[in-house]
Amino acid sequence: MAMARKFFVGGNWKCNGTTEDVKKIVATLNAGDVPSTDVVEVVVSPPYVFLPLVQSSLKPNFQVAAQNCWVKKGGAFTGEISAEMLVNLGIPWVIIGHSERRALLKESNEFVGDKVAYALAQGLKVIACVGETLEERESGSTMDVVAAQTKAIADRVTSWENIVLAYEPVWAIGTGKVATPAQAQEVHNELRKWFQANVSSEVASTIRIIYGGSVSGANCKELAAQPDLDGFLVGGASLKAEFIDIIKSAEVKKNA
Ligand code: PEP
Repeated sequence: MAMARKFFVGGNWKCNGTTEDVKKIVATLNAGDVPSTDVVEVVVSPPYVFLPLVQSSLKPNFQVAAQNCWVKKGGAFTGEISAEMLVNLGIPWVIIGHSERRALLKESNEFVGDKVAYALAQGLKVIACVGETLEERESGSTMDVVAAQTKAIADRVTSWENIVLAYEPVWAIGTGKVATPAQAQEVHNELRKWFQANVSSEVASTIRIIYGGSVSGANCKELAAQPDLDGFLVGGASLKAEFIDIIKSAEVKKNA
């Protein structure tokens, strides 16, 4: 039997919040009645400046991620944060290649791949994001786009053990237009086939592929039930109490 893929729920807080807001979110998480770490891995990603506060005040069943890091060793790169610094602070995870950075900061597939490889080499675990725009979906190139984004990572890493792949259709991010369970399942399944053909059958069956894009307390259970969907990356709803309900959707897999 293939090794079970532990459900993974990430919360991407993006560029939001004050110290007071952050304390409230942490209090909500700490008070949440969530499944054990045997059932679900939960990783929240505050802005850099709040990482130490969140890391030191969250219960140990939650982990933290940075939202980005520099592509190589630190130095004369004003405004950047290096992977080494995250390691120094004991931050275990980093999100790389979020669509907002790809689109607004013009991060290319190759640059994202370089970042993933460098972060892994420093000992960080990576939530790597891929996803197509609406135009790309409508022109029928969804799989070509996510395959090219994934290949740029595959070309640069030797192991996928410490990577969670987040499939986040750009048209679903922050729009309230969630992918249907069938749309998400189709791409997750195609990505597994891509890993089977281009990396290995082991990676194809063990890599966690999570879905992101307008996930909510209301739609998470139906999505979580899809066989190739191993969790979520949550933006807007990760700032609200419904994030607890999204974490709880991990229970759906127990009866699968
Ligand atoms: C995200 O930013 O990764 C995301 C999925 O955002 P939202 O849940 O708000 O669509």
